[in-house]
Amino acid sequence: MIPYGRQWIDDADIQAVVDTLRSDWLTQGPAIGKLEAAFTALCRVPHAIAVNSATSALHIACLAIGAGPGDVVWTVPNTFVASANCARLCGADVDFVDIDPRTYNISVPALAHKLRDAKAAGRLPKAVIPVHFSGRAPDQDAIWALAKDYGFRVIEDASHSVGATHGGEPIGSCRWSDIAVFSFHPVKIVTTAEGGLATTRDPALAERMALLRTHGVTKDEHLLTNKTEGGWYYEQVALGLNYRLTDLQAALGLSQLRRLQSFLNRRRELVARYDRLLAELPVTRPLADLIDESAWHLYVIRIDPKRTGKTRRQVYDAMRAAGIGVQVHYIPVHLQPYYRALGFKPGHCPEAELYAEEALSLPLYPAMSEADQDAVVAALRAAMR
Ligand SMILES: *Cc1c(COP(=O)(O)O)cnc(C)c1O
Repeated sequence: MIPYGRQWIDDADIQAVVDTLRSDWLTQGPAIGKLEAAFTALCRVPHAIAVNSATSALHIACLAIGAGPGDVVWTVPNTFVASANCARLCGADVDFVDIDPRTYNISVPALAHKLRDAKAAGRLPKAVIPVHFSGRAPDQDAIWALAKDYGFRVIEDASHSVGATHGGEPIGSCRWSDIAVFSFHPVKIVTTAEGGLATTRDPALAERMALLRTHGVTKDEHLLTNKTEGGWYYEQVALGLNYRLTDLQAALGLSQLRRLQSFLNRRRELVARYDRLLAELPVTRPLADLIDESAWHLYVIRIDPKRTGKTRRQVYDAMRAAGIGVQVHYIPVHLQPYYRALGFKPGHCPEAELYAEEALSLPLYPAMSEADQDAVVAALRAAMR
């Protein structure tokens, strides 16, 4: 089976993990700070907080901005469930903004419209969580302008976007957001097996997220409620979690980052090749990069039965039977049983719902060979015949 995405681990990665296993620190050691420093340099941002998943990073981001009961947080339906669950885990309500039918990212006109209605109803969001779908940046400057007008926070779910850019800025710079979050799951751009990281320009948010990552426990003098009683002294000053990344994982992440540019280059080459190979087929290909550089986590085509004579289901089944691990990103989050039970129904986000009926992610990962890519295209052709 050719998977839709997978990691690329080389001997240097393995050696980095083995070296860490032989070191004094399996966790809470020096590799964490090094990984965070690598990200502050990559993203040109002052603060980075490494955690054990992007899900954890989203959770502490929502906690750090103070989202809680009585608040509502908005995200898009075309994402992994974690983008919405993070707000629910804080006790906040969630609502969904429809997507742009061309980029599959949050629709700024839909957001602006929903904000006008929410203002009239006195229920403006505490935060909006735009997602960098497939590694492509949403319209961040426009979202940030709305954030300033209406007074909400912006947490970017940049899980797909390590190494991407927008408006000449690296994703994660937080030029147009309060916090940005990355994922290091094996299918993403670089991996630590499980892992994630949050970046911010705000020292108070950075301090809060670092505290929440480790139980809300600190030895930091200026955070202590009482005077320190000695070297052993610590206090729990907030309700936090154990969301730490291990040093084994951080060492793997650092080693992977050395190849980030080559991973991105290879993804872009394969995307250009898909664009050429699929040009004659009656499918909708992803929008090309104009100025911004996508990280190309996913290559999503749309199968419109009116154009192809085949449904997405038929194409999916035929390709899977041929050993091609195509996938659907994403089933709209608001239509998941958990969210339906909260009252969400079909029709809430029509563009995301239509997209989700037609979308198919073709395999794309840096270690993919051209022969494998040719096999994907041949199986797609056969499935559409
Ligand atoms: C992968 C992903 C997550 C969750 O990442 P984990 O590191 O697996 O917790 C969240 N949001 C999006 C958009 C993702 O793709």
